[in-house]
Formats: sequence, C-alpha cells, structure tokens
Amino acid sequence: MFIVPTLVARDDNIAVKVIRMPLPETPIRNLVLILGDHLDLTSAALEHFDPTQDLCWMAEAPEESTVVWSHKARITLFLSAMRHHAQALRDKGYPLEYLALGTHPFRSLGEALDAALTRWRPQSLHSLRPGTWQLRETLTRCTAKADVSWEIFPNRNFFFRAENFAKWATGRQEMRQELWYRYARKQTGVLMKNGQPVGDRWNFDSENRAKPGAQGPGLIPAPRRFIPDRITREVIDIVENEFSDHPGTLNDFDWPVTAEEAREALENFITERLPHFGPLQDAFWPNQPWLYHSRLSAAMNLGLLSATTVVHAAEQAYQSQQLPIASVEGFIRQVLGWREYVRGLYWLRMPHWENENALNAHAPLPDFYWTGQTDMACLRDTIHRTLRYGYAHHIERLMITGLFSLLLGVEPQAIHQWFLAIYVDAVEWVELPNVLGMSQYADGGWMASKPYVASGRYLQRMGGHCPHCIYDPAEATGANACPFTTLYWDFLQRHADRFSKHPRTALQWKHLERMSPDKLQAIRDKADALKSRLRPTQQIKTS
Ligand code: FAD
Ligand code: SF4
Repeated sequence: MFIVPTLVARDDNIAVKVIRMPLPETPIRNLVLILGDHLDLTSAALEHFDPTQDLCWMAEAPEESTVVWSHKARITLFLSAMRHHAQALRDKGYPLEYLALGTHPFRSLGEALDAALTRWRPQSLHSLRPGTWQLRETLTRCTAKADVSWEIFPNRNFFFRAENFAKWATGRQEMRQELWYRYARKQTGVLMKNGQPVGDRWNFDSENRAKPGAQGPGLIPAPRRFIPDRITREVIDIVENEFSDHPGTLNDFDWPVTAEEAREALENFITERLPHFGPLQDAFWPNQPWLYHSRLSAAMNLGLLSATTVVHAAEQAYQSQQLPIASVEGFIRQVLGWREYVRGLYWLRMPHWENENALNAHAPLPDFYWTGQTDMACLRDTIHRTLRYGYAHHIERLMITGLFSLLLGVEPQAIHQWFLAIYVDAVEWVELPNVLGMSQYADGGWMASKPYVASGRYLQRMGGHCPHCIYDPAEATGANACPFTTLYWDFLQRHADRFSKHPRTALQWKHLERMSPDKLQAIRDKADALKSRLRPTQQIKTS
C-alpha cells in the first residue's frame, strides 16, 4: 500500500485528503507534469492525453516558497492559481494526482517527482520547458534515475521557442533588444503593413518618456480587482500560518488566479488604460502603484494568459479603436520585444549568468529592502507598496530599487534573490536577466550596452517623491545630500577605469573632470559613511 495525498474537487472548493492507494499494477503511459507556471488548459503537453492511460501530476513543494524568502502574495498567487487549475483539469475530466502542501513528506519538487516516477512507473514524462535552469537539471536527473524518457513540448504562451532565439543570436556580435524586436515584428507580422512597421517607425520610445506635471498624473482608472474566492481564502490561511514570518501582507490580494480572470484583467486594461499607456511609461509617482501599467505579468508568467493573446488584443484595439500608436507600440514592445528577448537570453547564458559579478560588487543588501524603513522617500514609497501588493512597475524596479543597489555596490546575487522573492510575477527566466543583466550590469555589458546609472536629479525630474524627502537631490555632500546623488558620483569614480573611455559612457564620466580633488574626496567620504550606516543589522531573517 502506498499513502498518497490526493486533491479532490468539491464545488468551488478544493479539499485535501489523504487516501491509501495500492501500488499501481499497470504502469501508466505518460505522466504529464504540470508546473506552477504552466497553468494552461490548452498546453501542448496535454495534446495527446488519453485519460485511460495517462495521468496529470502536480505538486506543491515547500522549498518553492522558501528557497528565496518569498513574499506572501507570491506564495498565495502560485498556490491559488495551481489549485484553481487543478479544479479546471478535473472539471474537464483529466485524471490528476495533486500533492498539496502539508499532506506529503517531500521538501522539494524533485523529491516528490522521484517518488511519483517510482510509484506510477510511466513510460514517459511529458511537460513544457521548466522556467528555471536548475529545475531543468532536476527533471533531467529525476527522469534519468527512474529510467523514464522526458518529452518537452513547446510552450505556446510565448511567440518563440528558446531554440528560435538561439538561432537568431548565433554569430551576433551585439545582443540588443531593438534588433531582436524588429526581427520578431517581421517574423510575426505584428504591427506590420506591407513589410513596413505601422506608423513608419519601429519604435516610439521617445514618446514614452513624459513626466507627470507638478500636480501628478491626475485621475487614473483603477484596475479590475479580483476578490479572493473560497480557494484563495483557504490558501491565504495556509500562507498566514505556514509562512507567517515571510515578507509582505495579504490584505490587498486581488490578483487574477484563473484564465477567465486573467482574460478579464486584459480586457479591462485594453479598454481603460492602454490608450494612455505610452506617455507615462517611464514615470513614477508617490502612492500611484499602477499608473497606466497592465498588471498582467503575473498572469502571463503563470501561463494563465499567453503573450500572443495579449499582443493580438492590443493590436486589435489599435485597429478597431484607433488607439494612439505610441501607446500600443510601447506596450507591444514590452511583450513581444523585451519579454521574449529576456527569455531567449536566459536560456542562452545560463547557468553561469547567475554567478557573474563584473563590477566586483560585494556590499550586503540593506535591511530596509525587506521593511521599507528608510528616510529616502522614493525607496520608502516603492518598497512599502512592494510589500503591500507584491508589485512595483518597471521603472521603479529599474531606476529606484535596482539603481540604488547598483550604486551602493550590492552583491548582484543578493539583489537577485530579493527580486526573485518579492514580486508576484517573479520567475527566474524573466527576473534574472532583468536584474543581473539590465539592472546590475553583473555580466559586464553582455545584455545592457551600459550601466543604467543616474543621480537623484533624474529621480527628481521623472517622479514626485523629492519634494517630500528630507534629502536634496542636487546635493552630493553635506547633511542634506541625497544618497542617490552621493553614490552616483562615487560609482563614477570607482568605475572610471572601466567606463571613461567607453564610447557609450565616456560623456557621462567626463563630468567627473569638472570636480575638484577635494570635492571628489568629500563624495567618497560621504559614500563610505552611508555604506557603513546601511550595513545590515542581522536582525532580518531572510531564510
Ligand atoms: P507593463 O508595464 O504593463 O508591461 C506589459 C508587459 O510587458 C508586462 O506584463 C511584462 O510581461 C512585459 N514586460 C515589460 N517589461 C519587461 C521586461 N523588462 N522584461 C520582460 N518582460 C517585460 N518581469 C517579470 O515578469 N518578472 C520579474 O520577476 C521581473 N523582474 C524585474 C526586475 C527588474 C530589476 C526589472 C528592471 C524588471 C523586471 N521585470 C520583471 C520586468 C517588468 O518590470 C515587469 O514585467 C513589469 O513591471 C510587470 O508589470 P506590468 O504587468 O504592469 O507591466
Ligand atoms: Fe529619493 Fe533623493 Fe529624491 Fe529623496 S531626494 S526622494 S532619496 S531621489
């Protein structure tokens, strides 16, 4: 006899019970592994499914929530979406074994799968490509150990397969998103007319950089919210009990957790916010968590919504409602351009990307990243909202939390772990390139042509936090010096050898020449004092 916990569907509720099952006498044909970010009922892995011979298999493994000290909303979202997906599979008649948290002895997905392969003795394991290099290694090991073949099916939630990207990248001197984006537009025909880009330009980036006026961005339509149903509330209880010391709160949890909800969220975005998405794409403002952003990344990354659906909906709205091209192209560029690009890069450069540290940065991550307790208004507001919602929009991630870490010289792997833990949409294939490549320059410029560095002056220009801050973004030294500004000039000095002769950065570094040696020394002293002050207290437990 084998004791196996099974998830049973009951109305809109999912209950877990432990049942005793005999060791199957007839081995099954295919075990279809459905990972937490492959929640797609139209998945290619299910295409040849035969309920008389095959079995779907899903598992909640504690390590998935603890390998990084995950935000409560991130854990809740994954578990709730998985449980809703389990119910949808059962409703459609798929036989499923579901191992729920707390009902099985396994710490990791690998351990649980080892046991499942022994128990079910399938001829073959079927799945989509896992979202992390490490998990792919684990599945390779599990299937080899059990002597089971592993068939990986294309993930239709993306436009391109990782192999397509690798082919495109072969022999290229420069790995630049813009080149990929044009290729992707041509290949897919998205926003193309007679072989030319719609609007006669590939890119309306220059029209995506407006800053809000002094009074802020004004009234912005609120995004569609999804009030937690019974399954989500059950998961919230589990998370509050089992992961009570994890960062973040769940009071505002309203993310879409099913494919239907994700579709509603998309429709709401297209109608209410896409028309204004373009101009304020690069802006940020206090107490404005969403601005005109879509909030679709989490649903897309879970597999609830495909990139093709999202892009085609935006293109369709452009055609039928004559939406501004700068908004539609700006949005499509993020999905068809950036999202597909970072995924391709991830599979091209892993595993060594994870350990790179081109700028030799070794500072620890300050405590306030986990608490929001800092006197810097921009970081305080962004991190408080991150803890509240598990969300910050792109420019806040890149130019507030990411920028501060880069300027401070935080070890890339420490900030990578933070980003992977703290956002509801965090999955490694998209998080790692954005953090280690784009934000921290840890790969020495393989992904980003130059480091994204700026002083407090930039934050003053693009956002609305500085008037509410005790610091002065114009000052690099003195009592009111803005830490971003101090660290910016310190960064330029520390990395002058590397960047002052580089054609893309020389101009920025040239400003150093205007400063007297005394001023430069005063900046270094101020930066050193700041680094000492921000050293972690060891009071925050992050694992
Ligand atoms: P919108 O602004 O509405 O953009 C639309 C969609 O475009 C997003 O939903 C997303 O799918 C895609 N997109 C936009 N920018 C990027 C990008 N740079 N890379 C890949 N896709 C993009 N995105 C994640 O999905 N998971 C992460 O863990 C993640 N970590 C990031 C870390 C850093 C340091 C940075 C700079 C960016 C990160 N991003 C990540 C990319 C981007 O910030 C988020 O996708 C976006 O903020 C999600 O909010 P949204 O859905 O409202 O996006
Ligand atoms: Fe942030 Fe500096 Fe502005 Fe304060 S003054 S809000 S720390 S950029």
